[in-house]
Amino acid sequence: MTDNACEIWEKVLPVLEKIIPKASFTTWIKPLQPFSFENGKLVLHTPLAFTIHTIKMSYKDIFNTALTEAAGFPAVFEIIYSKELEIQYEKENKKKVKLIEKDLEKKRLNEGKYDGLKQMNSESGLNLKYTFQNFVTGSYNKLAYGAALAVAEGKSKGKYNPLFIYGGSGLGKTHLMQAIGHYIIFNGHGKKVRYVTTEEFLNDLIASLKMGMDKSDFSESKTRNKKMAEFRDKYRNIDVLLIDDIQFAAGKERTQQEIFNIFDTLHTAGKQIVLTSDRPPSEIPNLSDRLKTRFEWGLTVDIGIPDLETRMAILKKLSEDDGLPLSMDVIEFVAKIYNKNIRELEGAFNKISANCSVFGITPDKETVKKIIKVDENSNVITVGNILDEVASFYNIPVSEILGTSRTQQIAHARKVAVYVARELTDETWESLGNQIGGRKHTTMMVAYDGIKDGMKIDKNLAEEVNTLIKKLNR
Ligand code: ADP
Ligand code: MG
Repeated sequence: MTDNACEIWEKVLPVLEKIIPKASFTTWIKPLQPFSFENGKLVLHTPLAFTIHTIKMSYKDIFNTALTEAAGFPAVFEIIYSKELEIQYEKENKKKVKLIEKDLEKKRLNEGKYDGLKQMNSESGLNLKYTFQNFVTGSYNKLAYGAALAVAEGKSKGKYNPLFIYGGSGLGKTHLMQAIGHYIIFNGHGKKVRYVTTEEFLNDLIASLKMGMDKSDFSESKTRNKKMAEFRDKYRNIDVLLIDDIQFAAGKERTQQEIFNIFDTLHTAGKQIVLTSDRPPSEIPNLSDRLKTRFEWGLTVDIGIPDLETRMAILKKLSEDDGLPLSMDVIEFVAKIYNKNIRELEGAFNKISANCSVFGITPDKETVKKIIKVDENSNVITVGNILDEVASFYNIPVSEILGTSRTQQIAHARKVAVYVARELTDETWESLGNQIGGRKHTTMMVAYDGIKDGMKIDKNLAEEVNTLIKKLNR
């Protein structure tokens, strides 16, 4: 890289920036590096071989004019692909993408409008992102959402005390629990809320117990008692206690004992308690029976598996909030890949968004596919897998599902297969019809809607279908 090459490029670049459309400038022109400037010829290196032709075709005259003007004599340019630059460019971009991804995540977590609320929240341990307004509802989480809202609004009249929310990882338990906290802080006339993860609670307890633990002289044990009293006050002098991921209390006897005492104090005083876990109380191993019983005193709700529609709605919201327009087919494509975990779905969105801003590209389906590096063959659930699973689940042969029998049991299995296939694969209605016994696409749609509506009113059906989906996702 020679000095005079840099010098002239520094003069030319701002001129080009004014003339060339922003997206093209960012993608094609910005990555160029001046290499040499001799005998009226500026040599530029590019990390992107495919852009050379486009730049020459579209911007040759603009380049040469700007160069000639900056040099004060007739000058031309040449672009050469540089492997070295490509490696460096990719490295830098990867770093940039990671940084932006992290920023996006952070930005979303710290977004908040009310300073006062922010302050209150920092005391309560809440995160401003997790509000009811930001929570998208669908059939799979409607029950949990409704219960949470009833508790927040004080409409449950103590019946939902405690409210116990359980479900898989990344499905919105923490979000929903904190939404209750926000709502109460904002509408609860000074009610005191405390959010704590079971892990923090445990650490807090250990720290309080440790004070003077190994020395037995009087003053040390006095400090310890004081610390323990402070610890207990912190969790009892409040109106709403939110304990996240209570399954981590499994096997921790001392923690369970403290939780038991706090629970009884708060409950007796009519204070609200909300708990979350990855499984229902009865299934948490090494949890004392008295806690299990208490956790079931109020209402236990399950956040199920997010359906395609809700996953799409969540992506749509993210895309609107971020000002990154995604077409419906891209939204559907991404939502179909990330079908188990909203956290992962958000992560994929951040990755897409970061890449688009670094590379100045528009997120069409092909680009998105590359960004999230979908390996077409790995981990993909096919209609064939689904038919096998459904057949074994209902204990009937696949051939019957594909066949024409209309007996209730077979027709039901067939409809469930259609629903699950639509939820978990990227197939069109036509293609589904072809693969499920050569049926019409309208038949597929009717079957899908039938199961979907059925699941809303029939809890057993919903459970049946979700079990199947869980099995297939494993
Ligand atoms: P969990 O506690 O169940 O592991 P989180 O509550 O931490 O899951 O949710 C993971 C991420 O997904 C969070 O960023 C959360 O805001 C988001 N999320 C989950 N469910 C929803 C939803 N229904 N609407 C909007 N965002 C959601
Ligand atoms: Mg959580």
